[in-house]
Amino acid sequence: MFKFRQKFQTVFIRFTHTNEVRVRFAPSPTGFLHLGGLRTALYNFLFAKSNDGKFILRIEDTDQTRIVDGALEQIQKDLNWAGIYINEGPRIGGLYGPYIQSQRLHLYKEQVNVLLENETAYRCFCTNRRLDLLRMEATRTGQIPKYDNRCRYLTKDDLQAKLNNKMQHCIRFKLIPGLQTFEDLIYGPITYDVALNEGDPVIYKSDGFPTYHFANVVDDHFMKISHVLRGVEWQVSTTKHIMMYRAFNWDPPIYGHLPLLMNSDGTKLSKRQGDIQIKHYRDNGILPQALNNLITHSGGGFDKDLERGLKPRIYTMDELANQFDIKKVNSHSGKVMSERLLEFNRFELERQIHSDIDLKVLVAKVQNIIREKFPDRQLPSCHKYSVSQCIVFIRAGIHYIGNFKNQY
Ligand code: GLU
Repeated sequence: MFKFRQKFQTVFIRFTHTNEVRVRFAPSPTGFLHLGGLRTALYNFLFAKSNDGKFILRIEDTDQTRIVDGALEQIQKDLNWAGIYINEGPRIGGLYGPYIQSQRLHLYKEQVNVLLENETAYRCFCTNRRLDLLRMEATRTGQIPKYDNRCRYLTKDDLQAKLNNKMQHCIRFKLIPGLQTFEDLIYGPITYDVALNEGDPVIYKSDGFPTYHFANVVDDHFMKISHVLRGVEWQVSTTKHIMMYRAFNWDPPIYGHLPLLMNSDGTKLSKRQGDIQIKHYRDNGILPQALNNLITHSGGGFDKDLERGLKPRIYTMDELANQFDIKKVNSHSGKVMSERLLEFNRFELERQIHSDIDLKVLVAKVQNIIREKFPDRQLPSCHKYSVSQCIVFIRAGIHYIGNFKNQY
């Protein structure tokens, strides 16, 4: 175990001192971007920006049955709206593309063969019926339901006979039993015995698609990802991922898991709630930087204004990137103070009013709102100068841009 940690530390030093920081946001297009997803994307983006690194968008669509129409496009639009700019991704391309997993199937096939050849993976012919029976038996006897790794021990002859019979099969990875430790950038050392809790995982399905775990590892390696910052729900999978890196004889990236985001009353923030979708905030007049600041306030990684005796205000992306320190992300769940969102929105309007460039954009938006409200009237007061004067004059009572139309 010590050797393992020593090796890990060497990897850390290698990346932090010599290699380019390359991080990725890897959503599955199974729904639209929500607050939790935006937090992961934002922290990756700020980490890249603060280290002169690259932010990569990779779409993980290996589970074709769960794809939602339009999600891929919408995720990219939502990131763009939030001011999270992509250095490499499906639309913009890049040296290590394609950036959509379903377009990389040849690579996974090639790589799964490497593991079959070095015998760290094997073909599994167990039927769904057998797996169901195993599950039922485990439930009946109060055991952890897991695959019993039977096909790991097929003789060469058995294996050949099944292949000759063209029996449908998947490919599983051989888990190494025992405790494994890795250093989490946010949680510190994490020790876990994955084989105690899971059977050998499927890495390549009978439909010719890899599973998430395999594709994710292969892509992070080939896309030269230096740091993986992702939600804490993936932490239990990390020792398994590191085992796959070892099986390939690759160095793993550095992992950091971002704690859960909760509602301010401590209840779970669910992505099924339409009201945490980014689209919902946008449609309701919330400004991107207000939302980003709400997230950074909730998720840690920054010194708090109040603790520094400063008046709360909105920070731009550049300011956030300058202040961001991954070591300041706490390992306990972050509470999203949604009740402060309007206050943040007003701070953001105030910030825009004081920035010449942003004020111009704001004035144009308000002019549009007014024209939409009074389409058949020529309004002399809709002139740029009047609108800007009006915005400055009434700003104290305004939380949304949309409120301006009520003031005319
Ligand atoms: N596709 C995974 C997700 O939807 C990505 C997990 C990871 O970042 O490794 O969250």
